[in-house]
Amino acid sequence: MEIHLGNTVIGGKKKFIFAGPCAIENISQISEIAKFLKDYSIPGLRGGTFKLRTKPTSFQGLGEEGLKLLKEMGDAYGLITITEVATPEQVQLAYEYVDVLQIGTRGAQNPYLLKAAGQQRKPVMLKRGMMMTIEELLWAAEYIIEEGNPNVILCERGIRTFEKETRNTLDLSAVCILKEKTHLPVFVDPSHAVGLAAYVPQLTKAALVAGADGTLIEIHPEPASALSDGAQALDFTAFSKLVKELREETISFTI
Ligand code: PEP
Ligand code: MN
Repeated sequence: MEIHLGNTVIGGKKKFIFAGPCAIENISQISEIAKFLKDYSIPGLRGGTFKLRTKPTSFQGLGEEGLKLLKEMGDAYGLITITEVATPEQVQLAYEYVDVLQIGTRGAQNPYLLKAAGQQRKPVMLKRGMMMTIEELLWAAEYIIEEGNPNVILCERGIRTFEKETRNTLDLSAVCILKEKTHLPVFVDPSHAVGLAAYVPQLTKAALVAGADGTLIEIHPEPASALSDGAQALDFTAFSKLVKELREETISFTI
């Protein structure tokens, strides 16, 4: 299924990339990123505004101020914007500012949030809950669709397993299965899956080869000083190298 956003298509023949910071921190950070994406012809800008952090002492996001910055950047650079919403109230608020609403791994199991996302008309990227089976993810999508919003993008973002070397375990088989079982676009977020920037490029390529329609990648101009998820953020050099490689050829075989 194709989702049309202005002149842009998600779930069509071309792969789609959303990139941006884990959290919008201030205007200079997000405008530097937005300009960089525009220069590299990347169509989508992500940016967390209402963050769901494990620790209450961690940076919680700029809230509505962040939404305003995201809209400003989307308008200024012609980028498709996405941000996470965690409550029905945030769905209503973000509706005014962004192009795509994101339901995160923690929100994916909240039927009240899913229904609220189904009652509005912007596309919804639904991430897989970190403990969700593929079947449960599909039921979560059904909550949104049943309310009248067919524009759901599924996103594999890693699941919790016994493995501790990586933040989560990227379940690439979910991509194959979801592509077969549904007509919905399927994305992969390699950043939250692996949690380590060094492995994000390889996993992005693997996801696209497995059939993903697009990816959601965290980038930051200065990952070491990021207020959240710095360890998994690609800097501009690493991200532009990845984009160049993706454009040249997704994978090359020496056989
Ligand atoms: C995010 O994309 O900002 C995020 C918090 O992801 P997840 O819900 O997958 O952890
Ligand atoms: Mn993050």
